Amino acid sequence: MKALVLERVGELSLRDIDLPQEMGPDDVRIRLHTVGVCGSDVHYYTHGRIGNFVLNEPMVLGHEAAGTITEVGANVIHLKPGDRVCMEPGIPDPKSRASRLGLYNVDPAVTFWATPPVHGVLSPETIHPASFTYKLPDNVSFAEGAMVEPFAVGMQAATRARVTPGDTAVVTGCGAIGIMVALAALAGGCSRVLISDLSETKLKLAETYDGITAVNLREQNLLEAVDAATEGWGADIVFECSGAAAAVRDLFKVVRPGGTVVLVGLPPEPVPMDIAAACSRECRIETVFRYANVFDRALALIAAGKVDLKPLVSGTFSFDQSVAAFERAAEARPEDVKLQIILDGEGS
Ligand code: ZN
Repeated sequence: MKALVLERVGELSLRDIDLPQEMGPDDVRIRLHTVGVCGSDVHYYTHGRIGNFVLNEPMVLGHEAAGTITEVGANVIHLKPGDRVCMEPGIPDPKSRASRLGLYNVDPAVTFWATPPVHGVLSPETIHPASFTYKLPDNVSFAEGAMVEPFAVGMQAATRARVTPGDTAVVTGCGAIGIMVALAALAGGCSRVLISDLSETKLKLAETYDGITAVNLREQNLLEAVDAATEGWGADIVFECSGAAAAVRDLFKVVRPGGTVVLVGLPPEPVPMDIAAACSRECRIETVFRYANVFDRALALIAAGKVDLKPLVSGTFSFDQSVAAFERAAEARPEDVKLQIILDGEGS
């Protein structure tokens, strides 16, 4: 099957590769329609590794995907050929200790698309467990379906934060994940979100959403902005989505006494954290790794019109232009939030 293969660091090719064709009774076969380009895909392309996951052999990229069912296994009852779907890219071992605890996202045995050595789905077709495949409501497009995966990280962050209606939240970092966290926080009941970044272009896009206020760190100090907005009390929740040492340093000055800090961004190297400041405010600290049990809720919010991800698509490419799509993503243009690759011209 033709696929976008990362051969080694910095080298991509669109070529034939052997991929599994065997369907089990609990699986579905999916014709891919739209696949998003994720920061992690780009990082494997530019660096060949993320933490302990190292590219040692050619790997197909892509894990943010939507498509159409073409075949279902004998045991599958909730999906049928022709259904438009999106897929959860991590498949845990259902019998693992983590899965039994309901923490399947941190199952050490999880296999996750486009995480070495597991192939991703930038190919015309894939086979996937039906239980991790979600039917798209009729008013949700393939483009939106392919953004459920990154939005699920926002859903996980808002869930872990235990948002109370009316909360004021701060999001540090205005990339795709930061914006999606802000949207999930608003959908979860936050009254407003202040989002900080150094890029005016990214902040401008975030500010087109009701409830989001931009803080440009080149012009304004985040601490002062939050103090001004909260009469010096601090934010109920701070979502750290930048992975930047400077943002982590100030987290516990931005959060209110008794507030919550949610760590979403992954600093490439360990960064210092002010434990004394955290203790003096008796903060709750939560961490986020991918997501569990949020895809159905994410789709419900999108279908209900409470979350609009469409403005986040900055560019689309055909399957034949996949390499160009990754080269563009590697440029990290400030105006690019989400680039997508369309594999199948049919439908929307
Ligand atoms: Zn992703």
